[in-house]
Amino acid sequence: MHIPYSRQEISEADITAVVDVLKSDFLTQGPAIPAFERAFAEAHGARHAIAVANATAALHIALMALDVKAGGLVWTCPISFVASANCALYVGADVDFVDIDPVTRNMSIEELRTKLQAAKASGRLPDVVVPVDFSGLACDLKELRELADLYSFRILEDASHATGARYLDGPVGSGFADISVFSFHAVKIVTTAEGGMLTTDDDELARRLRLLRTHGVTREADQLERQSEGGWYYEQVALGFNYRITDMQAALGLSQLSRMDAWRGRRQTLADRYDRLLGNERFKLPVQLQDRASSWHLYVVELTDAVQATRAEVFAGLREAGIGANVHYIPIHTHPHYERLGFKRGDYPNSERYYDRAITIPLFPAMTETQQDFVVSTLNRLAG
Ligand SMILES: *Cc1c(COP(=O)(O)O)cnc(C)c1O
Repeated sequence: MHIPYSRQEISEADITAVVDVLKSDFLTQGPAIPAFERAFAEAHGARHAIAVANATAALHIALMALDVKAGGLVWTCPISFVASANCALYVGADVDFVDIDPVTRNMSIEELRTKLQAAKASGRLPDVVVPVDFSGLACDLKELRELADLYSFRILEDASHATGARYLDGPVGSGFADISVFSFHAVKIVTTAEGGMLTTDDDELARRLRLLRTHGVTREADQLERQSEGGWYYEQVALGFNYRITDMQAALGLSQLSRMDAWRGRRQTLADRYDRLLGNERFKLPVQLQDRASSWHLYVVELTDAVQATRAEVFAGLREAGIGANVHYIPIHTHPHYERLGFKRGDYPNSERYYDRAITIPLFPAMTETQQDFVVSTLNRLAG
């Protein structure tokens, strides 16, 4: 039996949607992109959604739209994919980290508050904080908003895991962060193979993001700085990139989006079942909170001191049994590139303790109970 840790679901309708674009007049910049953007904005309660080539590109132009430049300062979490921190380096800003809360595995509000107080005292507050909705569980957005208003920083939410997640009765992607970013990489919740989305309620930020996505070039009459010279006329008014998504990808995303809620339901059922089957002293399981619904991109167990075997042994045993275990993530600050920037192991103890014990076990909508039982029995044997 081979069980991947994640697996995309491509339906006949998805395939038809992509083939229809291939047979149409537009492969890129056609009608599927605005249709996908509108549907995504509606599903996530946002005024604007802007589709781009991938979430890494989205994080990059989000910081640019938020005016972060060389000499700026961005804070994020060590437990994330490296892109959450790299975006700061792309714009020449400095990056720093806030440790995680061991229960939610998201940015710790207590650590953030303490670090902000110290930063204020020393005269260098962050321009932007990038919290991560790790595994699909929304971060503490209400508390983050209060701190953002108090200390005047902007919130760029890395919601790459959280497509379809909910927080305080509303969808993730609206209401709290200045900009939220989603990923449609093949292992994520909804896929376009590669792709990303930015949501915002701010008209001006949305305008800038659209401009930065396409070279900083505009044809919109109200954005031209000079008189139009004719129907061909366009102007470059800022330095942007080619970060566009294609119409084929957008058609796939739009088709996938209709199954988003059903997938969340299925992932929730499987997560509840893991909770039941693995609920013993050997495993520290993901938390479930009353005020938010995870999209369950990942299900991560931490081995406790009750387990004799090492994490490496348990991991190798799972792989040997054909189970696609994974580890999310190596703390960003411990990578060689970040060590060269002055960070070191020991800087963020909660993130490091989590990392040393974490194993991501398979979870995807098409997973069967038989597959899940096999994961559980194998894990029980290895951690026995
Ligand atoms: C996947 C991921 C990204 C990057 O997404 P891409 O679409 O692959 O660029 C960024 N942040 C987090 C937390 C992710 O999981």
